Amino acid sequence: MASIHIADRCLCCGGEQLSAFPAVLMPFVAHRALGWQPVRIAEDWQMAHLQTGIAYSVCNTLYCRDCHFVFLDMRFDGEAMANLYRDYRGDEYVALRDHYEPGYAQRNAGLLDGMGYVDKVEDFIGGVAPGIATVLDYGGDTGINSPFRHRAEVFVYDISGCEVVDGARRLSRDELRRGAYDLIVLSNVLEHDPDPERLLREVCRYMDGGTHLYLEVPAEQLFMRFGEGMDAARNKHHWHEHINFFTRPSLQRLLARCGLAALASATLVIDEARPNLQVVGVLCRLVGGGAGNG
Ligand SMILES: [Zn+2]
Repeated sequence: MASIHIADRCLCCGGEQLSAFPAVLMPFVAHRALGWQPVRIAEDWQMAHLQTGIAYSVCNTLYCRDCHFVFLDMRFDGEAMANLYRDYRGDEYVALRDHYEPGYAQRNAGLLDGMGYVDKVEDFIGGVAPGIATVLDYGGDTGINSPFRHRAEVFVYDISGCEVVDGARRLSRDELRRGAYDLIVLSNVLEHDPDPERLLREVCRYMDGGTHLYLEVPAEQLFMRFGEGMDAARNKHHWHEHINFFTRPSLQRLLARCGLAALASATLVIDEARPNLQVVGVLCRLVGGGAGNG
């Protein structure tokens, strides 16, 4: 059975000074990951102390008063994650999501074509680390958004099990090799992960002194609207697949804990037609070239 763990400390800095605000786990995620469906509280239940209406799965938004990380208190176990991301955006996923979020199926058709900003990512990475010849896209789905896929040898590691696009090669976990890649990409993955520190430490195992790591997380609209402080957490009322909202200090603290140093960062606009749709990209290396890591 899929299960959850409730976070009791900050997943970025380890701090224990947390504030909690009640929120809702969106029904698509609750249903697909955990099998929890909304329930209608009807008149004929004759409940004295419940109001009628639909009850959704409740959760808490947690806020770290130290590094300002904003996150869902529920942390899914491996089985819940496998349920959620199996055949990601495949037929069954799309059907259930469209049931709870009408119109999703149509939006998804656009997502499968890939994002249009990979050239900006390549320019950013190439400006700091020229000559990338081998790339591991960790959590890279089908590889459709993998940087340098038309110029470099691209490997994809992903739990979704989707077919990869032409020009990319899927690797199993056993096939991953330390130091075999000029660039490891961890793009739009950290915000989904129940334990971002463990994930980053795992990725670091495949880096050596010559490897660059490109991290990308969404530049959350919530922070643009409310700033990177407690106001943002107070106004985070629902949680979907993105269970971690990284502020700049929280990301820095997380990187430092994992022995990573940021070389450069950039805010990139995903779609020029919607200029507030942005991502934060950070290029890193192991601190001290990885001496002592491994
Ligand atoms: Zn923190």
